[in-house]
Amino acid sequence: MTTAAALLQEIRKGKDQLVRLEQQLREIQQQCEHEFHEEQAYRLCRKCNWMESLHY
Ligand SMILES: [Zn+2]
Repeated sequence: MTTAAALLQEIRKGKDQLVRLEQQLREIQQQCEHEFHEEQAYRLCRKCNWMESLHY
């Protein structure tokens, strides 16, 4: 049986990993020469998935 403590530990590990992944993604996005694909309300870089909202 999985205990609450074990679950909490897994959640914490998952969050740490998420933070690391988000940092890696941000580094990639900061170094990217964006190639935007425009949608209605935002544009999205097809290389790094960076998203900018379009407000005129
Ligand atoms: Zn990009």
